[in-house]
Amino acid sequence: MRAAEWEARAACRGLRDLFDLTFTDHRGRVPNRHERAALAVCATCSVRVQCLDAELDSMRLGRQTDGVFGGTIVHQRIEILKNEGWRRTPSITHGTRKGYQLHLQRPDLFGEPCADCREACREYTARYRADRNAEEAS
Ligand code: SF4
Ligand SMILES: [Zn+2]
Repeated sequence: MRAAEWEARAACRGLRDLFDLTFTDHRGRVPNRHERAALAVCATCSVRVQCLDAELDSMRLGRQTDGVFGGTIVHQRIEILKNEGWRRTPSITHGTRKGYQLHLQRPDLFGEPCADCREACREYTARYRADRNAEEAS
């Protein structure tokens, strides 16, 4: 929950149950039944603009988006940000070979490969070599 001055004027106050139903992994273009019900509440809300801005800002920082906010469903918010040239921030698991590759692909986000990722990559290479040697020997 965000603590902002405008939240006191949110039309969805007290309707958490309804809005929680929109927190699914629904990513479709067309609002489902629960989303339509929540959107009808947003349509009457005087702080819709602030609400949408806050959610978009949070997405720009890489936070996962879900549910109805500011009169939009997830699909619409992703479209708005895509039009700004935004790309979803990939998440990294350190200590994996995939993580190592992400370090190399996105040094702007993740920096140089960390020790754990380097180690995972080294292990992978060693295993690969051992397998290949075993194949050649057989
Ligand atoms: S716009 Fe919708 S989600 Fe945002 S505060 Fe208003 S009713 Fe709640
Ligand atoms: Zn790492």
